[in-house]
Amino acid sequence: MMALGSKVYNDAGPEVAIDCLWCGRQSVKARTRQQTEWLTLFHFFPILRIRNVFVRCSACGKDMIARCSLAEVEHSNPVTLQHHLIRSESFVGRVCILVGLLLCWAPIVGLIPAIIGFFYRSQFGTAMKTLSRIGLILSLLTTALGITALLLSHAASQSQ
Ligand SMILES: [Zn+2]
Repeated sequence: MMALGSKVYNDAGPEVAIDCLWCGRQSVKARTRQQTEWLTLFHFFPILRIRNVFVRCSACGKDMIARCSLAEVEHSNPVTLQHHLIRSESFVGRVCILVGLLLCWAPIVGLIPAIIGFFYRSQFGTAMKTLSRIGLILSLLTTALGITALLLSHAASQSQ
């Protein structure tokens, strides 16, 4: 069972014109949406809510985050919007990578966020990708050691 999960809800917004941060096209059409992401424990208890306004370039199809409200995006032009746009990355992914690394010494417990974080790694730069890989490898090792120890102690108790 996965202890940590995330639920994502999207609300479509208006179409706007942007200068794309990814492909560099000017005044290109983009679709907007407001995304609400919940980080949940046992798929039930919400821990964190992250709300982001996403802008997707129609030319290259990549997402950017607008650090302002959906209403502000609607009333912006490419020049004013440019100041609000950043390349998107998932906050949940970042949290999972870091939690996975912090808990990599704990069998299974650390493995769960490490795996979730690993699936998000393509959104991050080299440093976070490396951290994600280290966290996953260490968690796999401690989980393998933990299971081996459990099996050995089980075998030992059976042979008595
Ligand atoms: Zn683009």
